[in-house]
Amino acid sequence: MYLSMVVPCFNEEHGVQRLHDALVAALSGATQDYEVILVDDGSTDRTLDEARRLNEHDPRFRYVSLSRNFGKEAAMLCGLRHARGDRVALLDADLQHPPALLPRMLVLLDTGYDQVVARRSRSGDRAWRTALSRAYYRLARRCLDVRVQDGAGDFRVLSRRAVDALLSLPEQHRFSKGLFAWIGFDTGCVTYRNVPRETGDSRWRPSALVDHGVDGLTSFNDHPLRPALYLGPLVFGLGCAAAAIVGSPQRWAAALLGCAGIEMFLLGVLGEYVGRTCAEVRQRPHYLVKESSPAPVELRAAEP
Ligand code: UDP
Ligand code: MG
Repeated sequence: MYLSMVVPCFNEEHGVQRLHDALVAALSGATQDYEVILVDDGSTDRTLDEARRLNEHDPRFRYVSLSRNFGKEAAMLCGLRHARGDRVALLDADLQHPPALLPRMLVLLDTGYDQVVARRSRSGDRAWRTALSRAYYRLARRCLDVRVQDGAGDFRVLSRRAVDALLSLPEQHRFSKGLFAWIGFDTGCVTYRNVPRETGDSRWRPSALVDHGVDGLTSFNDHPLRPALYLGPLVFGLGCAAAAIVGSPQRWAAALLGCAGIEMFLLGVLGEYVGRTCAEVRQRPHYLVKESSPAPVELRAAEP
């Protein structure tokens, strides 16, 4: 069974060689029948040069370079489209997804699962990030139709059937954590201790994390629109009651300001869905490819 590994890379010039060494070592006892697809997500450093060098030296390491930075979700989609394996692994370039776990995950996949996810503990994370993500997943469990788990992210191996299912989902705003849950199939799990990044910094600025969180909450259904339905009559009732009781203009002004806040929030939620609908209607490609490694020998031989 052929294995493809998809690795999104954004400014990972110092990580690519380490990743190569770690993957080769991790898979040496498990399989030799594999390819690695490095997706250079518009890096501004020497990541692409490193990928080219690696490909010349070891053609199992292929690369696709995007025309600019489209984000990790787009880079993963690109990698999945290029993967030719019967089994496909997704992992980060910074070795925070330890390649040494892959053999165990593959064995578990072969026992009949279509997805095996490696779930990380949050040990070593900053306290504020852990607390925020716990709160977020609690909220997500209430809002989403699909079940997303804290720590169970993109580090996983998938059967060809699961990859094809993911590729059949055309949405523009991709929230992979939710998509993995949405496609279903039997999912196995291994756990591992959190490891800090080997080189460089995380690309997640706090604002990007918030955006990603909103994407998650609004990608799967229109439940966030519900509060508008319930809050409208509630605020109207409160207003009528207050009109009967309160007299002072200052209190009225404060109450109106509060209502305006609620309205703005709900308009924001509505706007989020309108923006999403526009993006879906435009149907722009998720990414554009600038350059990719020469076609593998067996593919070139198959060309007419
Ligand atoms: N990444 C990417 N495009 C981006 C941001 C990140 O391809 O716009 C890649 C990055 O190179 C790494 C993976 O996605 O391989 C995870 O990124 P990062 O380590 O910054 O995220 P964190 O581990 O903090 O969640
Ligand atoms: Mg990382």
